[in-house]
Amino acid sequence: MNLSRKVDQLKHFKFWRFVSSGPNTEYGLEKKWAYYDQDFVDREAAKPLHKLTPTQIMFHGKFADGSHLVKSAHYLQQELPRRIARHIKDFQSLPYVVLINPIMQEVYELYLRAFRKLVHVTEIDNLEKERQYSFLLSQLLNDHKDVVTYLAKAFRQVKKFVPYEVLGDLAERTLTSRLGIRLLAEHHLALRHKKEHFIGIIGTQTSLKHIIERCVINCKDLCQHRFGYSPAVYVSGHTKATFPYIPAPVEYIMQELIKNSMRATVVRHIENPFEMPPIEVTICNNDEYFTIKISDKGGGIPDSQLSDIFQYSFTTSTDNEGNLCETEDTFDNFSRAANDKGIGGVLSGYGFGLPSAAAYAKFLGGSLTLVSMYGLGTDVFLKLIHINQPNCFRI
Ligand code: ADP
Ligand code: MG
Repeated sequence: MNLSRKVDQLKHFKFWRFVSSGPNTEYGLEKKWAYYDQDFVDREAAKPLHKLTPTQIMFHGKFADGSHLVKSAHYLQQELPRRIARHIKDFQSLPYVVLINPIMQEVYELYLRAFRKLVHVTEIDNLEKERQYSFLLSQLLNDHKDVVTYLAKAFRQVKKFVPYEVLGDLAERTLTSRLGIRLLAEHHLALRHKKEHFIGIIGTQTSLKHIIERCVINCKDLCQHRFGYSPAVYVSGHTKATFPYIPAPVEYIMQELIKNSMRATVVRHIENPFEMPPIEVTICNNDEYFTIKISDKGGGIPDSQLSDIFQYSFTTSTDNEGNLCETEDTFDNFSRAANDKGIGGVLSGYGFGLPSAAAYAKFLGGSLTLVSMYGLGTDVFLKLIHINQPNCFRI
């Protein structure tokens, strides 16, 4: 490790100790700010959250004078600091050995910086202030778009030091709470622009077939780039169904599942690349919920691994020679999805795909079920509740 990196780490270390241990005169001015923040953090974190159903956010109304934007920004001004404060406290409660990991600190400091910026915004009571606030929100969304990537890297570096539950629970809470925050912020920003068949982030005529087709294009690119081949994907069932939904998280989940199926199929059939069995995606829609089944003939998953595949950081990702790949290359090759909307980054080789997809499905009031027929292939079922249902999720 070179000297400047070490000094950098020590700097972080000092900051951390200070933040987590309260006032300490040794650090002068830094102390004042950090203590000030911590006080705020504790107070905000203790406040209740006001979660909204998609229907509530969809029917907030739209007024020609833009007052709906001021109202929406005002809600976020109250809501976001308390949600971010909870993240910060979550990080602060981690074991010391995890805290001193430089990547973990990077994520922690991102949240701390976002918190500072958001709590210093003055009351939003006119459109000019709303415009400035929206600018800040889009900056923050951009700053935080790689948080899941950082988390996955940090997870891998520190997992040997602490029991799985400590990190697994943190990853689960961070991913789902972050999804909620991003959806709310993106909804507000989307309200500012008119887009056909959309109210904010809600697509009024969401087509699962179109979402799947977009994912297939991205995944095929990644798969071709990595292996030189990619399997065909057929979509059947209720392909004409359209309904109001939030497409972004479904797209993220589908992308992870199709990527897994493509990888398994290509690895299994690499000897006969021109006779690769297609991946079959079936859509089923009814009044209460919709289900998407992804069926591949990628050889399935051994029974001995079935209890691990939904654990964060479990992967059997291999390079071309079949060795367990621990390099950054796999990650880079298979992780650059063209449609990364910053909901969760797009990961492979880090073992975050299945658990994050399952966490998002649960957040959306649904489930992700995997059935493996070891030796033949895998079926994965994504089941999500419609947003007009009384027991729908809250963001
Ligand atoms: P990653 O793709 O980064 O390895 P995931 O969480 O997406 O992480 O998947 C974890 C593991 O589950 C994979 O490494 C693979 O062993 C297994 N797996 C997931 N989906 C499939 C599938 N469709 N067919 C075979 N194995 C799969
Ligand atoms: Mg994966």
